Amino acid sequence: MNTSVHTAMPVAVAGQSIPVRAILPWAVFGLIVSALLIYFVGAEQGATSLISGHAVHEFVHDGRHLLGFPCH
Ligand SMILES: [Zn+2]
Repeated sequence: MNTSVHTAMPVAVAGQSIPVRAILPWAVFGLIVSALLIYFVGAEQGATSLISGHAVHEFVHDGRHLLGFPCH
């Protein structure tokens, strides 16, 4: 059996690690975007509404029910 196919791969591909400093800004960005999405799906209604009208509420209405937020 010829195993030269497996040994021809570069060694560096196998075990590269990503430093935490490179991931941290993207993790913070992801948390902020996630918090905004959760806010607009779950709390953008009534007294906590930032945008007047029902457009945002109606747009995320199915997601609101899917995630179990109280609605109507
Ligand atoms: Zn509803």
